[in-house]
Amino acid sequence: MTSPDITLTTGAETAARLDAADPLSGFRNEFRLPVGRDGSPQTYLAGHSLGAVPRAAAGHVNAELERWAGLGVAGHFDGEAAWVGYHELLAASLERLVGGRPGEVVAMNSLTVNLHLLMVSFYEPTKRRYKVLIEAGAFPSDHFAVESQIRQRGHDPAESLILARPRGGEETLRSDDLLALIAEHGAELALVVLPGVQYYTGQVLPMAEITAAAHATGARVGFDLAHAVGNIPLALHDWNVDFAAWCSYKYLNGGPGGIGGAFVHGRHVADGSLPKLLGWWGQRPDIRFEMGTFFDPIPTAESWQLSNPPILAMAPLRASLEIFDRAGGLEPLRAKSQRQLAYLDFLLTEVIGDRAESLTPTALAERGCQASLRIRTPGVDGRAVHQGLQAADVACDWRYPDVIRVAPVPLYNTFGDIHRFVNILDRVLDEVG
Ligand SMILES: *Cc1c(COP(=O)(O)O)cnc(C)c1O
Repeated sequence: MTSPDITLTTGAETAARLDAADPLSGFRNEFRLPVGRDGSPQTYLAGHSLGAVPRAAAGHVNAELERWAGLGVAGHFDGEAAWVGYHELLAASLERLVGGRPGEVVAMNSLTVNLHLLMVSFYEPTKRRYKVLIEAGAFPSDHFAVESQIRQRGHDPAESLILARPRGGEETLRSDDLLALIAEHGAELALVVLPGVQYYTGQVLPMAEITAAAHATGARVGFDLAHAVGNIPLALHDWNVDFAAWCSYKYLNGGPGGIGGAFVHGRHVADGSLPKLLGWWGQRPDIRFEMGTFFDPIPTAESWQLSNPPILAMAPLRASLEIFDRAGGLEPLRAKSQRQLAYLDFLLTEVIGDRAESLTPTALAERGCQASLRIRTPGVDGRAVHQGLQAADVACDWRYPDVIRVAPVPLYNTFGDIHRFVNILDRVLDEVG
């Protein structure tokens, strides 16, 4: 998957050649990366937690501060970026990233809030059909959200929560096991909530197959795309997914606590029979300010909006989405990402060998831009390795109980970053060993 004409070696010159041959290399300059102790950019491999800031973000935020200063309350309705419709400026780019049709995607709230709002609509337990399938290793916020939804409807999580887990001794979920579990609980299954990309292992789940299997039993399906959006190509509409939610501060570079997003399939967006929590921002904008109390929803995913959204939190995301659009969307980025992952795997094998093990699937189609490394060096504590990496200005994270996650992000990470990371890891393993 690396450039066919470049033979991989462990030398720095190979990284330089790969970067020189990379048609997307210019995009790194559109971001600001944290600076390390020596004044040069850190080896920033933490985009799985917080993406880098686009250089244009400050301009977009400042423009809104200026509009606020110059226009005051009139900023809600004046001009092209009038705040009343500001979220609409994000919709088209987000649709492209998640494979949504016009009207299926909205930027709003934060991820866990959106999961709750969508489960209010799409988890409709009955006496016979009340179970929710998630993974045993779900991100805690997702687990809490689902568990509390089950309780809210008067059901008992002990009976209603189905937990999918990897087989003994394995790290990732097998598709066949997931599909079998869906079929097994079929008639009692109300909802499946799974990640697009698993946060701990980086595994890509087969979203189309899961959706088809769940629908075949009569259950609905929602995906948490926290680690999938901006990372892998998605086709939510074509896959027939019922709903999805995501945050924007990871691979979307929307900034800390940035605005989340939601997808509702077109066949549901105008379904007035779905239960829904209501707020005035879901009301049709042409009658919203008549202040009537008859709710006439926007016939799109926007009808799940409750409040007028935080403009200053949306502005940086606008800057990042413009970069995704200029890069040509996810297809070219994913192609580069797969070249980077193949290079990373090559270096890990050659330089690190069995001193560390990756939990991330090796098949490139089954993983996002991530490697989850478990240190396997006798007598070496993984946490000390993580600290050693940080001390050497490698930004990556430690995930309890024993994994170091690194994410080469194709928009701003170079092949040189990957080379530097592996060589620093090699040195740190020697030092702490
Ligand atoms: C990052 C992440 C979250 C965080 O939720 P917020 O509501 O944005 O704080 C939740 N779930 C998953 C799977 C995540 O990766």
